[in-house]
Amino acid sequence: MEEKISRLGVMGGTFNPIHYGHLVTAEEALSQFKLDKVMFMPAGVPPHKSDPEILLPEERYLLTVIATASNPDFVVSRLEIERKGPSYTIDTLAQLQQIFGPDTTVFFITGADAVWEILTWKNAEELVELTEFIAATRPGYSLEKFKKLHVLPEGEGREPGRPRVSIMEIPALAISSTDIRRRVREDQPIRYLVPEGVASYIKKSGFWKD
Ligand code: NAP
Repeated sequence: MEEKISRLGVMGGTFNPIHYGHLVTAEEALSQFKLDKVMFMPAGVPPHKSDPEILLPEERYLLTVIATASNPDFVVSRLEIERKGPSYTIDTLAQLQQIFGPDTTVFFITGADAVWEILTWKNAEELVELTEFIAATRPGYSLEKFKKLHVLPEGEGREPGRPRVSIMEIPALAISSTDIRRRVREDQPIRYLVPEGVASYIKKSGFWKD
């Protein structure tokens, strides 16, 4: 990326597989938060996960590239899939800070369930200073627990050590990767839930069929 990036969205996720819910989330964050770019960051080895259904990092990366190829505001990073060991967000943000410098504000976008647990993530205190979080929710998702976490929206004064979290409700997140894998296993259609190229590549590769 050659041009100056002041506001960078980093879309963190396992993307197993990427679907339209993720793409709508990224586009909505781009618009609502006036981001210059959204960088999709497929996790290499997702922390706290050892699921045989998770495709190889290179496979999830490739599907993410296929899904985002036509959008000039989306890029896909290999940072996490190339780093050895679990993909801790703190390590990714530290690497991004080195690449982009202090004038770039990073917004870490991911699912609300994951954001809810950020205080348990590696180096949480440092992490909440490095980024603002955008938590994407499915319709009907209860925000009660976020109130208990005392998270404060972007722009409001906050106490040190508390995360800055904005909640974004995304109706398209009724689509889920879990449901897509189940559909593939059961020979149900995934057309219109994922981009066409993603559906074709999943079919051609026989993912989740064995
Ligand atoms: P997850 O538990 O697989 O996902 C939680 C929920 O959020 C699911 O409903 C998921 O839906 C949704 N989701 C995931 N990524 C999303 C995105 N970018 N936009 C919208 N919805 C999303 O979460 P995960 O993928 O393992 O982790 C999410 C991110 O948090 C990753 O970047 C991961 O590296 C990071 N993380 C870091 C630490 C750490 O540093 N210690 C610990 C945990 C997670 P779908 O299944 O449909 O995607």
